[in-house]
Amino acid sequence: MPEAIVAGAGIAGLTAAIALAHKGWRVRIRERAARLEPVGAGIQLSPNALDVLHRLGVPIDRVGVAADSVVLRDGPSGRRIATVSVSSSDGRGYRVLHRADLQRVLLETASATAGIDLSLSETLVALAGDGRDARTVFESPRGATQDRSDLLVAADGVHSAAARLLGFPAPVASGATALRFIASSAVPAGPAAIEAWLGHRRHVVRYRIDTAGTQNIVVIVPDADPGLGPVAAWDPSLAAMLSAAEPVGSWPLLTVEPRWRAEGGRPVALIGDAAHAMLPYAAQGAAMAIEDAFVLAACVSDGAPPADGLARFEALRAPRVQRVLERVAFHKRVYHLPHPLSFARDLALAVRSPRSLRRDLAWLYDWRADTDRPDSAN
Ligand SMILES: Cc1cc2nc3c(=O)[nH]c(=O)nc-3n(C[C@H](O)[C@H](O)[C@H](O)COP(=O)(O)OP(=O)(O)OC[C@H]3O[C@@H](n4cnc5c(N)ncnc54)[C@H](O)[C@@H]3O)c2cc1C
Repeated sequence: MPEAIVAGAGIAGLTAAIALAHKGWRVRIRERAARLEPVGAGIQLSPNALDVLHRLGVPIDRVGVAADSVVLRDGPSGRRIATVSVSSSDGRGYRVLHRADLQRVLLETASATAGIDLSLSETLVALAGDGRDARTVFESPRGATQDRSDLLVAADGVHSAAARLLGFPAPVASGATALRFIASSAVPAGPAAIEAWLGHRRHVVRYRIDTAGTQNIVVIVPDADPGLGPVAAWDPSLAAMLSAAEPVGSWPLLTVEPRWRAEGGRPVALIGDAAHAMLPYAAQGAAMAIEDAFVLAACVSDGAPPADGLARFEALRAPRVQRVLERVAFHKRVYHLPHPLSFARDLALAVRSPRSLRRDLAWLYDWRADTDRPDSAN
């Protein structure tokens, strides 16, 4: 039975462990944290990611709530600009939830899957090995452990130690910060829509994350002016929501140029933020991590040496993630336009129907993983 080590038990690492175990791998997940505590805030999962989770038997419908549309608003006035439908025709839906709930259902599924072991307080600190196997050193309070495996999956996030050890560049600051808030159910639950308020160099996104009506609010601001600034005086309904909300922290938004595998044919794959941390402007970072995990497991499980499958993994994933990155850059430009360019944007969007705006995203949301033929996944 082939053996994989997965560094990191975040969204990417847990999904990869489940996908690999389904393909007959024995998987050891090694996580730096001493406990998997609830971190982060809200997360949106589009149909492309939900499809993978369903195929892997992750009971994702047990957490969060369904959303059917994104309502785009003018930030200062709150005026509705346009509505984008996000529901899918094949019933995969679109969900909004707390990241901790996603991690919990992934962890429960991994724990119930034969062949997966998880150890905590283990930090990847060194990599070695030739073309045939991956040698790793993990440090823990018990000391350092050297291991060999047929595959190392680096799912250790934006500050990936694996990427650093492989010589890839450090993440780059994007110049923007995310201020995150959670508001309790005392705030009216609102419709099953995601709302986005757009303004010059800033935008705000709000959605429910549970049936009790808990709201997730994220405010994107420039690093140069890192408080709420003008956002505090935007749409009065948004201001009321923000004043009733609890801050849960600020996240400097970092990016990395995509990198997928070790050079020299070593069986080391990078997935999730370790491979391609991206700005959250298309809400696809975790979704791409989930897709990566599924496609990787298919590519390394055809009986050939795992390193051979990694070229195919990169060939499948690089164009898709590149297209997502282009969409992210497009959203960044369009969301943050100054007046009067924003006026032209609003007019152009106002004449489009929710379904026609949804069609622009069909390539993204209608992607479906094919268990046996990942080549068809594009
Ligand atoms: C404001 C904001 C909003 C977002 N909204 C969305 C959204 O709506 N939809 C969406 O799809 N995405 C969204 N994202 C992106 C998403 O959160 C990330 O892309 C996703 O969580 C990345 O998952 P990951 O598993 O790759 O990394 P992480 O979740 O960072 O997990 C990495 C894991 O590796 C562990 N680790 C680190 N170093 C080591 C080491 N040396 N050894 C062992 N373990 C290690 C860490 O402790 C951690 O558990 C958002 C991001 C931000 C900042």
